[in-house]
Amino acid sequence: MTPTKLYCDFFGHNYEVTKKVTNHVKEYTCKCCKKQLTTNSNGKLIELTPKFQEINSALERIYNNRMMRLKRKTISSSIY
Ligand SMILES: [Zn+2]
Repeated sequence: MTPTKLYCDFFGHNYEVTKKVTNHVKEYTCKCCKKQLTTNSNGKLIELTPKFQEINSALERIYNNRMMRLKRKTISSSIY
């Protein structure tokens, strides 16, 4: 066990948001031990496994597409 890991176990992880996937889903990384977490569909924090990384990148794509479409719609409705 590394000293950093011990520190985290003792004081708790020092998470910061490293990626905003959607309004509700974010990815977090611990500044000390680099452990990664993400928000699942229930809004709970879980470990960021490769499986969830995949889900998140798919979510992000869908979310960005929707945002872009929403923006375009707003622009065109303000013109007409
Ligand atoms: Zn940590």
